[in-house]
Amino acid sequence: MDLFEYQARDLFAKHDVPVLAGEVIDTPEAARAATERLGGKSVVKAQVKVGGRGKAGGVKLAATPDEAVARATDILGMDIKGHTVHKVMIAETAPEIVEEYYVSYLLDRTNRTFLAMASVQGGVEIEVVAEENPEALAKVPVDANEGVSIEKAREIVAQAKFPADVAEQVAEILVTLWDTFIKEDALLVEVNPLAKVASGKVIALDGKVSLDENAEFRQPDHAALEDKDSANPLEAAAKAKNLNYVKLDGEVGIIGNGAGLVMSTLDVVAYAGENHGGVKPANFLDIGGGASAAVMANGLEIILGDPDVKSVFVNVFGGITACDEVANGIVQALQLLADKGEEVTKPLVVRLDGNNAELGRKILSDANHPLVQRVDTMDGAADKAAELAAAK
Ligand code: GDP
Ligand code: MN
Repeated sequence: MDLFEYQARDLFAKHDVPVLAGEVIDTPEAARAATERLGGKSVVKAQVKVGGRGKAGGVKLAATPDEAVARATDILGMDIKGHTVHKVMIAETAPEIVEEYYVSYLLDRTNRTFLAMASVQGGVEIEVVAEENPEALAKVPVDANEGVSIEKAREIVAQAKFPADVAEQVAEILVTLWDTFIKEDALLVEVNPLAKVASGKVIALDGKVSLDENAEFRQPDHAALEDKDSANPLEAAAKAKNLNYVKLDGEVGIIGNGAGLVMSTLDVVAYAGENHGGVKPANFLDIGGGASAAVMANGLEIILGDPDVKSVFVNVFGGITACDEVANGIVQALQLLADKGEEVTKPLVVRLDGNNAELGRKILSDANHPLVQRVDTMDGAADKAAELAAAK
């Protein structure tokens, strides 16, 4: 889960990373009181989960409370790279910025380690630095068990060639930032710019944090950080039902058991769709092994509730869960939905294979539901589902 800058700022403050005061607001008028609380001037910063806000006009200085209201009026509602600005942060203005650096920690999946990155060329997009001037971006692996001690932090600082006058300050910040990274179960913490101001003090002026959702069970505070306003309503409904669902932008609803099978189902449907006017998968939904009729019903309910869905492909490979149980699940799920008054109106293509496939297929044939058709190969079923979606 990616956080807004103001949320990242709060986490930084909690772990003693130096930041400036700030508060988040969602009406222009609120910028006045917030700016007054900061002593009469402020920076007005768009809160969107995308970089490059500064360049897009989403970061503006305000010298008076009136000006803050005017800038907040400009910025609220603005579109930044497809993200509408619903909130702005009113932050304390940095005293004159002298230098802008970059520091981050992230999970380096390829090398199965954590990675520290640091550069004295911050402020700009770090991807550009990495591309055009790779030696200016130090990359230092961090051992998960050892973490970042002050000695390790000094090593990172030395590799990135921070100037001597800020080296120790930056090293200390790297230790607090590591604390943030580990204690909050983050996958990424990034500060850009980490700014040196006229007094010589170094401050985190912008933060990006991505939290590991797999750690939710031990991070009870993180639920409050979720952005419920912009969550996809179908994804939110699926989450409430404990389903592994991701909305995509196609027309063929997909249900399968096992993440690997569902992923390949997406590929096969996208490929089949090329022969049927370019229809694509409408979602990812893994109902897992051992899925009961209730889980199947929940899944179908979400998918059928998606107005983009024109047909549904249920792709099940019976393993531990035998196909007859899955077939019963599908029949019962359709009954459950009918009982709730949610009659299915979209065609379903079901492919059953694996453990007890014959029995499962017989159950579906016997049920003889008018909208359900069986196709016994994955490619054939994908083609049929794509054809039905294209015909609608
Ligand atoms: P981004 O463009 O989305 O990365 O947004 P940032 O928060 O990094 O802001 C962009 C740039 O605005 C920074 O690199 C700074 O140069 C400048 N900036 C941000 N906050 C302040 C501030 O408090 N005072 C001043 N003078 N400049 C700021
Ligand atoms: Mn930035």
